[in-house]
Amino acid sequence: MQTALADFIKDTPEGLEADAILRKCVHCGFCTATCPTYLLLGDENDGPRGRIYLMKQALEGHEITDKTRLHLDRCLTCRACETACPSGVQYGRLLDIGRRLVEDKTERPAAESLKRRALAEIVPRRWLFGILLKLGRLARPLLPPRLAEKVPAAVPEAGAWPAPRHARKMLALAGCVQPAISPDINAATARVLDRIGISLVEAPGAGCCGALRFHVGYQEQGLADMRALIDRWWPAIARGEIEAIVMTASGCGAVVKEYGHLLRHDARYAEKAAKISAMTRDICEVIDAELERLEPLLRKQGVRIAFHPPCTLQHGQALHGVTEGVLARAGFELTPVPDAHLCCGSSGTYSILEPDLSERLKTNKLAALASGEPELIVTANIGCQAHLQSGTGLQVKHWIVALEERLS
Ligand code: SF4
Ligand code: SF4
Repeated sequence: MQTALADFIKDTPEGLEADAILRKCVHCGFCTATCPTYLLLGDENDGPRGRIYLMKQALEGHEITDKTRLHLDRCLTCRACETACPSGVQYGRLLDIGRRLVEDKTERPAAESLKRRALAEIVPRRWLFGILLKLGRLARPLLPPRLAEKVPAAVPEAGAWPAPRHARKMLALAGCVQPAISPDINAATARVLDRIGISLVEAPGAGCCGALRFHVGYQEQGLADMRALIDRWWPAIARGEIEAIVMTASGCGAVVKEYGHLLRHDARYAEKAAKISAMTRDICEVIDAELERLEPLLRKQGVRIAFHPPCTLQHGQALHGVTEGVLARAGFELTPVPDAHLCCGSSGTYSILEPDLSERLKTNKLAALASGEPELIVTANIGCQAHLQSGTGLQVKHWIVALEERLS
């Protein structure tokens, strides 16, 4: 693609990066058929190729309108288009640059800005989110149905967290919403790893990975959250105590693996961020590497499960098929799921900011997951888990929790 970026951006780090990405795109449109919003809306501007063109125009100095912002807002950042692209166009990185520019150059209606501001202030604060969730559960019978379904009816017990006793140690990210909605996920991970000689620990005070603020229009605040998390993790890493950083929410994992890139121009944090990204593993990578030691401990009964691979796992981290392989070797019977590459509509705050599109994607995804008549749905990201659970009577849980239930 020929480009002529505007003077205000062409020599900046963002301009140079965007230019290199744009030049890789050959307009072939292979990405279009894999885009969930294009499939729903049938509008070129609601597909990756159209959005790339809109961002190109914005970067070249053409007028940026509310319509430009609308089409970028509707993007789920699922990155299915990246998986499909034969030219290696890093759409997600281009979108970060494009969204920031559009955010700076347009004005959102007050109600929309307020909604985004509220999400950026509430969700990353674990204590505040926890209090509001408890209040929401009390008020659930009085809430409008669409809001009530977003509030989980019950929170599972976490169970005991084994005391650190092994020489091998890994660090877990507690995260922001996961401890309030499903505290059993990290505790189950700690128990599984403990059985195979790895102690899982959490760093005191370590909170949000920064993804939420970064993607809801507050990129600087998101980067500040990332630096704060690095500061909490760094003492244990510098002491050489930690073998890896384990992610049980693939949404957080995809972003922490990008810290090295996102903070590469920050003289104080670039090196630490790169090291942290290199040490980060999704829990499926950790279990896959240790499976020979885990397998003898598992009771293998053929429970029929449907696995929903989050976009942040299969497209963001390119870990397609790893969890499925672990589950099959653990004795689960995986039911077929059509269109497994398509997003469920959760995508961070998307279900709140774009509720209609999100609902349609959820309905389609649940129908696909149920089509093989599973006994259970499992996934790998708290956002997808809560989103899918709000629309089905089948139980939806993290796969590591289901795996722990098979430990003898
Ligand atoms: S990230 Fe997902 S929703 Fe956005 S353009 Fe790519 S495929 Fe479509
Ligand atoms: S598949 Fe890649 S090269 Fe082709 S239009 Fe999409 S982004 Fe551009």
